[in-house]
Amino acid sequence: MFDDHHSPLPERLSDQGLLPGRGDFPAEGRLAVRDPATGGLVAQVAISDANGARAAVNAAQTAFPAWAAMLPQHRADILHRWHALIVGAKEDLARIMVAEQGKPISEARGEIDYAASFVQFYAEEALRPNIEGVTSHLPDAEMELWREPVGVAALVTPWNFPCAMITRKAAAALGAGCTVVIHPSAETPLSALALAVLAQRAGFPSGVVNTVIGDAATIVGEWTADARVRALSFTGSTEVGRLLYRQSADTVKRLVMELGGHAPFIVFPSADLDRAVAEAVKAKFATSGQDCLGANRFYIHRDVYDDFCTRFTAAVERLTLAPGMQDADLGPLVHDRQVAKQVAHVQDAVAHGARILTGGEVAADLGPLFFKPTVLADVTDEAAIMREETFGPVAALSPFDTEEEVVARANASEYGLIAYVHSQDPRRIYRVSRALQYGMVAVNRTKVTGAPIPFGGMKQSGLGREGARQGLEAFTEIKYVCRDWA
Ligand code: NAD
Repeated sequence: MFDDHHSPLPERLSDQGLLPGRGDFPAEGRLAVRDPATGGLVAQVAISDANGARAAVNAAQTAFPAWAAMLPQHRADILHRWHALIVGAKEDLARIMVAEQGKPISEARGEIDYAASFVQFYAEEALRPNIEGVTSHLPDAEMELWREPVGVAALVTPWNFPCAMITRKAAAALGAGCTVVIHPSAETPLSALALAVLAQRAGFPSGVVNTVIGDAATIVGEWTADARVRALSFTGSTEVGRLLYRQSADTVKRLVMELGGHAPFIVFPSADLDRAVAEAVKAKFATSGQDCLGANRFYIHRDVYDDFCTRFTAAVERLTLAPGMQDADLGPLVHDRQVAKQVAHVQDAVAHGARILTGGEVAADLGPLFFKPTVLADVTDEAAIMREETFGPVAALSPFDTEEEVVARANASEYGLIAYVHSQDPRRIYRVSRALQYGMVAVNRTKVTGAPIPFGGMKQSGLGREGARQGLEAFTEIKYVCRDWA
């Protein structure tokens, strides 16, 4: 099954059943999974068609009443077992992820920890009270609000965080008492299948967790049209999000949309520049730049602009690029469309007057999907990179003069996921944090996400929140009960 020469996967993974063997599924065809570092074949996965998608909803619908009625403590026990199994399989899951997604192995291990943290969080959250009292406005009446699971939830996820995007949705839905049908990206089906195997071992009853691999438009189209699917939680591009939003209208589904981002990274003159440079490197180059939280536009105050450009470029030139198992700072991009986007954004920015301070091209000696970490200076607002998601290792730097100007430029975007601000002036930090139209504002640091915080964006970066108590909302309905004992 594996091409041993190319693949970082040890044979024992298939012995442990974490990877699909031949004939595990009714084959309607096969999907080739390739290692982005080498182009080598990692595995062939059996795929389903519309019938498979419908069968998954049938199974989820049949399993729903018993799962919803199960004592929360028992649901929590199963989630805790899933968490322990994910943590126990961390190294194997990380290697599967490197093989199909390409990210450096340390980042893959970190993602497994992050993915597991959602399962643990929602195992605990499942135990919180799901009944609230209401102060009566009617004589003799007694009122309560009951939170109830909505039913079958469809979860559709991208390739950049192949495990965490699944657990962030699935743990919340399952903890709330929903059953789920999951469609992962065609680039990263193996991580999804491995999580499904671990879910089965954790003891989720048959039909509660269903993972379906196949043509996205066919599988997800079947689910958006199916009235039995009561919630759709999607993470991916704004373009596909809009399409699924429209498709969900006819059956009025509850929606969570975690869509694209175009994060501004703003450095004011009072900022600690060493820190701002170090955090800028993280904000741009983590996950090889393929991160919805990745900084796309760097607005640097003119007083510190030249200094920042010099220091940031020096830091970027120290970054290493190699296949994921060599654990460099960056790995390959996931597919050739990602490379084409980097090339197009660099060329367009240069045509609009930008200078390339470092990088700007494919590292051809490593392979066609390795793009050099790149810094562009003097990028003008007319360049496409200042509006469109680059989703890769290209940083666009531009100077600004006033707070008012930079807030207006930062907000002049259809996206509103996260904004980064560096300053040591508390009043400025407060004003700017208030003025930015973003779902998350990170001040003097880059890493701000985690299971206990509500993750999500404003404007066309999405709808709803994931993580935290708020992550349960799309998977639950409020039922108002008013009782009169007379
Ligand atoms: P994508 O929109 O192409 O695909 C996401 C998912 O949708 C995949 O499962 C894919 O199979 C499915 N899909 C694609 N076309 C479809 C169609 N016509 N009908 C139904 N389903 C379809 O996104 P991607 O390239 O996998 O991921 C990158 C995007 O995801 C970026 O825009 C990034 O910002 C976004 N993202 C957002 C977050 C967040 O939390 N906001 C997190 C990670 C990634």
